[in-house]
Parts: sequence; C-alpha cells; structure tokens
Amino acid sequence: MINTQLPLVDLHRHLDGNIKPALIWELAQKYDIQLSASSLEELIPLAQIQDKTSDLLAFLKRLDYGISVLADVDACRQVAYANMQDAFNENLDYVELRFSPYYMAQPHNLNVAEVVAAVVDGVRQGETDFGVKANLIGILSRTFGVQACQQELEGLLAHKTDITALDLAGDEINYPAELFKGLFDKGRDAGWQVTVHAGEAAGPESIWNAIKLLGATRIGHCVAAIQDPTLMDYLADNNIGIESCPTSNYQTATVQDIPSHPMRQFFERGLPVTLNTDDPGVSAIDIQYEYDVAHRVIGFNEQQLAQIQRNGVEQAFLSDTEKKAMFERALTR
Ligand SMILES: [Zn+2]
Repeated sequence: MINTQLPLVDLHRHLDGNIKPALIWELAQKYDIQLSASSLEELIPLAQIQDKTSDLLAFLKRLDYGISVLADVDACRQVAYANMQDAFNENLDYVELRFSPYYMAQPHNLNVAEVVAAVVDGVRQGETDFGVKANLIGILSRTFGVQACQQELEGLLAHKTDITALDLAGDEINYPAELFKGLFDKGRDAGWQVTVHAGEAAGPESIWNAIKLLGATRIGHCVAAIQDPTLMDYLADNNIGIESCPTSNYQTATVQDIPSHPMRQFFERGLPVTLNTDDPGVSAIDIQYEYDVAHRVIGFNEQQLAQIQRNGVEQAFLSDTEKKAMFERALTR
C-alpha cells in the first residue's frame, strides 16, 4: 500500500526508541552490562511491547532497556548509525530522527553535548553509507523537569546547526507546556523549527499550549484534538501537521483500539495528517507495517494513503527545493 512513485518519509521516529533487542544484547555483551534477561530470547518480550501497556509512562519504561547499554559515546554513535541502516532497509527516502540526549546520557553519566555530537556523527555517516537523507530533532524530556531540560537544551545548542527542530516529550500530564516556554523561545531564536508531543496523554488544551506558548507548527500524536472542533478548525486553517502513530497510540492506551483512531476524522476534515512509527524498536514495527495497519485496520484506500504519503513530504522540515527534488526523484524509479 506504499506508492513507490512518491517519496516515503517518517517524521516521528525516536532513535532512542529504536534500539532493536539484538543491538541491545550486543552492546550489553560488549560493555559487560547486566540486563534482567539471561538471553536475547528472554530480552525480546521485556524490551518490546507485547500487545499493549497500561499508559504512556508504562510504555516509556520499555525504552530504558536500550538506554541502559549506552555505556559511552561510541555506543550512542552505533545506535544512531543503526537507525540509518533501518531507514534504508525500510525504503525510506527521508527520516526525521528525534532523540533526548539527557535521557541517553543518564545511565552512564555521559556528557550531554558529547552524546549530541556522537548522534550527529552516526547519522551523518549513515546518510553517506546508505544514501538516505535525515534531519535531527532534539528532544527536551519534560519528565526530568525544567532544570534538566535547560541542561539538555544547552547540549543541543552546542551543535545548533546539526539540529533542525526542537520537541518536548515525556510526561505530558505532570509537566505542562507552560513550564518550558522560555526554553522553546531560545530554541526558536536558534533558528529551529518546533514540533511538540501533545494531546497524547493530556487533552486539547495541551495542544493549544504547544502551539500558542511553544510555537509548534507540527504536533506529535494530537489525538485529543478530536474533542475540540475549534482546535480542528485552527489546525486546518494554519496547516499544522499531525504526526499520527496509530500502533504506538494503541500500545500506550491513548486510543482504545486502532479502528477508533481519529486519523480518519483528521483526514476527512482535510488536516495535513502524516503516518509515522514513533518507537519502532520498542513497538516491534516498521513503516511498512504502519501503512498496512492504516489500510487494513483504519480503512484508508490506496488514493488516501498516497495523499498521506504526500502530506509527509509537505510537512517535512525541508526547504521547498528539497521537497520538489524528492518528488521528482521518486517519479523516476
Ligand atoms: Zn513520540
């Protein structure tokens, strides 16, 4: 159900949520790190979601396995590089990889700015080796509080030109957008674009605040927008991109089941909705799987999926020239 005459992109993918169990196991052996599993077979059901979890925070706990093996910056570089290999294997033309350097630095007390440098390095090397274009989105992990996010922002700003956008992720309920306004002002001053996780665990007001206070031009998940017709109009009128990740939303219990995912209503209302994987390593999915779900379970037809594919390119943090070139390249294959 993927149209090969159109570019294939993934705009919402966490590189620190896409450390495959085999790589976690390999790094654990290399650095002699004790995991609560005595084999790769035992690790898989711990590090990957089986069916679903109770809520967003329970889901995010699963990412900790991958992070626990980041013993040094070489491991961070390797994980970033492996993400580019995955993008290539999934036939992606372009991927926006997001990551939280503070979160990645935590278990082994790494330097945040050095983690950023290693990730940039691994991704750029991957671009060269695999011929897939990537942009990086720096995440502020709200769960750690404002002070940690300040430190995280500084680490990202140390590599300002290698970062394309700023994001806010983590515990949306207990750490609302208003706490981070000053940090996002600085991010926008640095010339970065803004996308924010909102309307995933909290309601429509969280989406309003992401737009009005933090300057988001795209929203991660945005599921709660369906409850607020005024917001739906605003998203349409202002061409605010929606980064939908249906499997993730099911696994975090954000939606009860995938058939009731609001992506269809967003599409029918004419909102620029895009389809993405979120944490493919933890969710045990890839972009092909997500298009298949959108077709089989949500019921989008071929033409509608092609529009969703085009929306992904239009909403990418790329110049118009880059987007045009990507459309032209896809037509020649
Ligand atoms: Zn996400």
